[in-house]
Amino acid sequence: MRAKKLARVLVWGVVQGVGFRPFVYRLAYQYSLQGWVRNTSGNVEIEVEGNESNIRSFLVDLEEKAPPMAHIERVEVSFLPARGNSGFEILPSQGEAERYQLVSPDIATCEDCRRELLCPSDRRYRYPFTNCTNCGPRFTIIEDIPYDRARTTMRQFKMCPRCQQEYDDPLNRRFHAQPNACPDCGPNLEIVDGDGSRVAADDVIRAAGKFLKQGKILAIRGLGGFQLACDATDRDAVDLLRTRKKRGAKPFAVMVANMEDVARHCLLSPGESRLLESPECPIVLLRWQHSSSDVCPSVAPNLKYIGMMLPYTPLHHLLLSETGLPLVMTSGNLSEEPIAKDNGEALVRLKGIADYFLLHNRDIYSRYDDSVYFVDEVPRPIRRARGYAPYPIFLSFKSEQVLACGAEEKNTFCLTKDEHAFLSQHIGDMENEETLEHFENTIELYKGLFRVEPRVIACDMHPEYLSTKYARQIGAEYGLSLVPVQHHHAHIASCLAENRVNGPVIGVALDGTGYGSDGTIWGGEFLFADLNSFRRMGQLEYVPLPGGAAAIKKPCRMALSYLYTLLGKDFPLAGFPLAGLDPGEVEIVSRQLERRVNSPLTSSAGRLFDAVSALAGVRGKIDYEAQAAIELEMAAPDNAEDFESESYPFAIIEEQGVRVVKLAGVISSVARDVRAGVPAPIISVRFHHTVAQIITRMCRVIAEVSSIRDVALSGGVFQNRLLLKLTTSALKRDGFRVFTHQLVPCNDGGVALGQAVIANFAVKEGLCV
Ligand SMILES: [Zn+2]
Ligand SMILES: [Zn+2]
Repeated sequence: MRAKKLARVLVWGVVQGVGFRPFVYRLAYQYSLQGWVRNTSGNVEIEVEGNESNIRSFLVDLEEKAPPMAHIERVEVSFLPARGNSGFEILPSQGEAERYQLVSPDIATCEDCRRELLCPSDRRYRYPFTNCTNCGPRFTIIEDIPYDRARTTMRQFKMCPRCQQEYDDPLNRRFHAQPNACPDCGPNLEIVDGDGSRVAADDVIRAAGKFLKQGKILAIRGLGGFQLACDATDRDAVDLLRTRKKRGAKPFAVMVANMEDVARHCLLSPGESRLLESPECPIVLLRWQHSSSDVCPSVAPNLKYIGMMLPYTPLHHLLLSETGLPLVMTSGNLSEEPIAKDNGEALVRLKGIADYFLLHNRDIYSRYDDSVYFVDEVPRPIRRARGYAPYPIFLSFKSEQVLACGAEEKNTFCLTKDEHAFLSQHIGDMENEETLEHFENTIELYKGLFRVEPRVIACDMHPEYLSTKYARQIGAEYGLSLVPVQHHHAHIASCLAENRVNGPVIGVALDGTGYGSDGTIWGGEFLFADLNSFRRMGQLEYVPLPGGAAAIKKPCRMALSYLYTLLGKDFPLAGFPLAGLDPGEVEIVSRQLERRVNSPLTSSAGRLFDAVSALAGVRGKIDYEAQAAIELEMAAPDNAEDFESESYPFAIIEEQGVRVVKLAGVISSVARDVRAGVPAPIISVRFHHTVAQIITRMCRVIAEVSSIRDVALSGGVFQNRLLLKLTTSALKRDGFRVFTHQLVPCNDGGVALGQAVIANFAVKEGLCV
């Protein structure tokens, strides 16, 4: 008999809370190996002893057959003399200071659990907290590492003998499934009315379903916080929810029971189907088939796309099968406050919004909104949260410990350590105390989980952002180096970081608002940039923003600003729709423009889209961010490619070393089209082609002086899928290599990543100490 060998194996990556140890156990069993496996706070350690070829096979399978949610980053193997281990065991977890682990995001209910949930003879039949090693809550319940039940909010539930048996049996699907529970021992549901009084019900799910079918609004305590639900086919219910939530026209997402139902409401590509059914289970924006969908139009007014998702917890599966309805499913908050997570908090904050509350007693440790994606050739995030965070972005360099505080809207923060950038889940708009508190708590959670002690803090250059003020305060308090980062440089750097390139590139950053280095409001920028620094090579022409914030809420003001600034104040307005602008206001805006009162200059691409939307009569007043631009995109016909030759004229002129896109030709052509009665869809498609050509021509000009042929596209304007498509194909036809976002949002939700990498390079270059 050949001599036995012993291998010590260290595995790094997402290997806890994903069924990794039972997998190792089964594998060892399969290859007749002896030894042990254990979690530490830094990795998984394995010792296997046996015949050498079996150990080799074990090591191959370890990487190739790992559980679906595991992500192995690195494996180290060392061979030692055999020591005569017998059997194979799973040793207790070992916590060690300073070391850390990647933490799994929450995972949608797996097929096996779903089957049990709906099987009348199963002991977990209709049990809404069913989960196993392959699915269920992770990040939302974890308080610290290593990931064991005692450090989760499940610790208050003592497992019954049957659950304990599953938990202890390495061959069971629930072996060491930390949130393991059943009706005898786990969390449970109750339903209360708007005043918090318990509603007597034999079956809480049935009662909840009945209320939904009656058109009531239900607050549901979900995975990462409360959701508000109502019947998506009931117009009155949807309108009531809008009114009570103070939601304006911003679209709601809809949850349906299964893929057949999705296909009834929407057109689907294979990539979209894959994403919808993935364990991450995000909301996916899909092409809405109004003709076959009974979801009422007011769910997503004036839009071609609707956010759809499948049930991702047992509770959702039960509610959907109980009602048989598509359900509006939206975050449980008022307007822009953070999502409510505790029962008492929800009863106060959602009072008057929800008719009934479906509550449970499993605490949520971290708030977690639904993620939102769209798919063109590849999935692209708009909001990154459930299913994705706190999974890191892998950097191409070893990083310093940095905290980047992000911007203001749709904010996230980012912590870096080693090769990891931990971009937080969506936090929200940093404009109120509640969100700031959520931001601070989540920073503390991430610092703890990943053992990060930042010595550098990065923030936006905008002095008035709450995130900037927070960064300054914390920086001063703890003596950290502060690195303020220009907003659009951060956008481009975030695109570079997720694509694992350092630049230099031609960075095209188009968005609504960003604090410019010259004190104006930027947003249509062409940068020569890498992870160190940037130079502004080009920009959209400056125009005044009459009334500041008022011009953002009223695109018709922006339209007037473009007309008067670029075509002259004698431009005759007669015959123009300029929806939303009354004669008195024309007077006020004209005066603001003339005297330059409260009219800061902006090069924002977002405002240009707004202005054209208002000019074309699509939308002159908005009640959610980017509504005018979104509806302008929606107005474009499907055969957009056919209109390329019809784009509007523009000029690029060099002024003091910066190439400026002169837009008078665009605005006068749009005005001429409007006067001639050209319909909005045609104006929209001509304009989209124009912007794509502005980008391409500018990139060509910058390539001539820099010989750089790599382009990075970032900024919220690239959520516009028509523009993204036209721009990338035009640039590629011209021979440019194009980098776009696939891991983090192109909007301000991705800015923190860019800030973090720029701060890292500032430290490396000795630009800050
Ligand atoms: Zn499962
Ligand atoms: Zn139990």
